[in-house]
Amino acid sequence: MSELAYPYEAPASQALFDRAAAVTPGGVNSPVRAFRAVGGTPRFMVSGTGPYLTDADGREYVDLVCSWGPMILGHAHPEVIAAVQEAVARGTSFGTPAEGEVALAEAMVERVAPLEEVRLVSSGTEATMSAIRLARGFTQRTKVIKFAGCYHGHVDSLLAAAGSGVATFALPDTPGVTGAQASDTIVLPYNDLEAVHAAFAAHPGEIACVITEASPGNMGVVPPLPGFNQGLKDACAANGALFVSDEVMTGFRTSRAGWYGVEGVVPDLMTFGKVMGGGFPAAAFGGRADVMAHLAPAGPVYQAGTLSGNPVATAAGLAQLRLLDDAAYETVDAVSARIQSLVTEALAKEGVAHTVQTASNMFSVFFTGRPVRNYEDAKAQESFRFTAFFHSLLSNGVYLPPSSFESWFVSTAHDERAVQRIADALPAAARAAAEATA
Ligand code: PLP
Repeated sequence: MSELAYPYEAPASQALFDRAAAVTPGGVNSPVRAFRAVGGTPRFMVSGTGPYLTDADGREYVDLVCSWGPMILGHAHPEVIAAVQEAVARGTSFGTPAEGEVALAEAMVERVAPLEEVRLVSSGTEATMSAIRLARGFTQRTKVIKFAGCYHGHVDSLLAAAGSGVATFALPDTPGVTGAQASDTIVLPYNDLEAVHAAFAAHPGEIACVITEASPGNMGVVPPLPGFNQGLKDACAANGALFVSDEVMTGFRTSRAGWYGVEGVVPDLMTFGKVMGGGFPAAAFGGRADVMAHLAPAGPVYQAGTLSGNPVATAAGLAQLRLLDDAAYETVDAVSARIQSLVTEALAKEGVAHTVQTASNMFSVFFTGRPVRNYEDAKAQESFRFTAFFHSLLSNGVYLPPSSFESWFVSTAHDERAVQRIADALPAAARAAAEATA
């Protein structure tokens, strides 16, 4: 690694990580940030501008994480920052209704046709948790179907991803989730409609909803096979269950109307987060007005939040959505395609077996020559090659998600200079991937 442009060590980040570890479990506030999958020192970032992040050691990186999706306009976009500053100056939380939350809800409803009504919350986890509760309250049923490899936040019942196969009751994936919570969750292989039909047949009148990532990005990018989402919708409709499409990651990222805008399958309920918050904690769930009418105070299903619809978060989200016109998506899609082909070119040159999978501008690189259709396929990749690839890029100023099971994200701010930096760093990374051993 002698020719690397950046020294490997990150002393300031390491010092901060040591301090953090003394007061925070594992030194981080969200596990994947800890670099456990790839090893090494997590970089503590101090600022972000456009496509770049700068760490505590003063090194600049081209950011291909974009805060795990939200920063679709790049960091510190001047118009988003101006909207935030203007909102902050008027006060940071009122605990009353305010116009900003109405405007954000209107902007979302205008973009996403199936979204007749929307309720704002503060995180994607809260959105999926509330949507599941509402689906159960509406249908008066208990069971939920989810898919292995789909992540819907750390909702107790949705952390059950273990066990597979038709009608297998899932075991909790983590201590703290009770068997009772997990046993109402049926975990099925992704992209397998037959398994869904069999589960409905095995549990007549018991299944409240099917929840799926609209196009999964949490096992790497594994898009739905043609007809899969429509098949889920039809199976739900035929069995009196609700179809819940989790667009926390894809919403307002994969198109102006999210994955719904790409595929056109109409869910009963949808969940959102990330892009709609403009980098602030804002999320939402919504959908059919007759279902949403069951939510308190209009209906009996309770749901609430002290900071829901926070005026600063809604100002940031609204500013970001307003800037996301068709031209913005064309820009993000184009830069994403460009980076994908650079990655493929570099890996192919070194003879590294890989598959790039996409969902609009979301993409990830699997270190396997075979298509990845589900979680089992994703786990079969050679992740040790990703580790070498990741560290080489990091050392050369390109910041990838620190796991091979994540989507890469780009922004409208990823310009020619940023792309060139990636292009310059890729040959060494591809070589490192080729030379890596398990
Ligand atoms: N749903 C999906 C599809 C996600 O990707 C995530 C987070 O990555 C969540 C839900 C949870 O969102 P949050 O981390 O805001 O709780």
